[in-house]
Amino acid sequence: MTLSQSDITRLATLPVRRGQLLIEGRWQDGENGESEVLSPIDGKALTTLALASAADVARAVASARAAFEDGRWSRMAPAGRKAVLHRLADLIGKNAGELAVLGVRDNGTEIGMALKAEPGSAAGTFRYYAEAIDKVFGEIAPTADNVLALVHREPVGVVAAIVPWNFPLMIGAWKIAPALAAGNSVVLKPAETASLSLLRLAELALEAGVPPGVFNVVTGPGRVTGEALGLSMDVDVMVFTGSGATGRRLLDYSARSNLKRCYLELGGKSPNIVFADAPDPDVAAKAAAHAIFRNAGQVCVAGSRLLVESAIHDDFVFALTRATEAMRLGNPLDLATNIGAVNSLAQLDGNLGFVADATREGGDIVTGGKRALTDTGGYYMEPTIVTGVQAAHRLFREEVFGPVLAVTRFGDEDEALRLANATDYGLASGVWTANLSRAHRMIRGIRAGVVHVNTYGGSDITVPLGGVRQSGNGHDKSLHALDKYTDLKSAWIQL
Ligand code: ADP
Repeated sequence: MTLSQSDITRLATLPVRRGQLLIEGRWQDGENGESEVLSPIDGKALTTLALASAADVARAVASARAAFEDGRWSRMAPAGRKAVLHRLADLIGKNAGELAVLGVRDNGTEIGMALKAEPGSAAGTFRYYAEAIDKVFGEIAPTADNVLALVHREPVGVVAAIVPWNFPLMIGAWKIAPALAAGNSVVLKPAETASLSLLRLAELALEAGVPPGVFNVVTGPGRVTGEALGLSMDVDVMVFTGSGATGRRLLDYSARSNLKRCYLELGGKSPNIVFADAPDPDVAAKAAAHAIFRNAGQVCVAGSRLLVESAIHDDFVFALTRATEAMRLGNPLDLATNIGAVNSLAQLDGNLGFVADATREGGDIVTGGKRALTDTGGYYMEPTIVTGVQAAHRLFREEVFGPVLAVTRFGDEDEALRLANATDYGLASGVWTANLSRAHRMIRGIRAGVVHVNTYGGSDITVPLGGVRQSGNGHDKSLHALDKYTDLKSAWIQL
């Protein structure tokens, strides 16, 4: 989708409606009142958001359960669900400009990226699972001749999805689309600072013909609204993308309630490793800058730890700094902007705290390090490169989720691998080398769900995305994602 700057300017002046809850197909206020939504672009109020109480959440779950049990969606022929989800994808495409601009006003992602990654990706995801679902078969097991064993694939029931603020439509669709395609009912909890485009998506879902009660949305703070979903006795599966701290809480809620299955995607501290034999160091430097600084570093697979072979360290850091300083930080609604706003003031303060600690621990700031564009009232931060970061430093170990890159040098392949794996996380990684055997050794050796070789950040709905270790479990995207939203049921028939 292409949008001109004047289209964007026009869409950005549209009034933003109050955010309400969607329960049983009806928009309604929350029992806990509402909160103000501030735009990270200028810090000004955009609209208000309904705050769901635990009782509101219970009603949303009950609505999802009732819809599931009466079969209005769960027992519809897959071809019927496919038609509805295709209509939804069409509507997302038709309203892509409005969705993208609304999302950017809410969360601050640069518009060029948002257009592709948000409505563009979400429409493709709904189409992919719409197309997939009438090609999923059960099985007949190869048992002894006197029995017939059938393996059915059934929807799990009520799926709760708690999603973050960095790419609400893209990540939301990764969970909502396969869950709905498989016949489940969904209760979605968007992040407080990025709910608006998902509320609009829910409106489009109703328009497309998703029956009332099948897709519910509850908004509000994680510690109230999210916690109520986590503790629900009637949610079968919880899918989540967000921080490790919240992921731990969700497992705890599950243990304290009905043992709902939890699939967690918890970010990372992903190593991007540049060997001296990288085919084109300038390309690698530019990619390394984009891998950490697009969307102001608020990307779960961001290449946030750059490991550089000592022999090329200084030249590479020079090229990287040049590539970084060529990126344009600015108003995310400007098509020329490469790095938009930080999502919230709290997040910005946290980012600056990381920089202060990095300096205290002996890192050197090569570029950036400060808040920027303060006169706009918005939340902006200079893309920041810190060299001399050691494995014991905070910046090496903890996820910033902001535009701060830790650079560490290594001597040889063994040390590179040791440093790459010296983390509790295991989401993504990158390797830059012209040596094919080394590339394959690194693919095998790196403990992460994704390894990029001579590139960083490929995206295609056909390829699974998921982490290992404390980056979580389960996979979004691809046909494998359907495993989270379906149960196997075995049936034995004596012949
Ligand atoms: P981040 O630190 O990136 O904001 P969070 O994990 O806090 O990540 O937020 C991701 C999502 O989790 C948001 O929708 C947020 O509201 C929700 N959330 C935060 N805390 C909790 C909680 N205690 N229980 C359930 N959901 C929560």
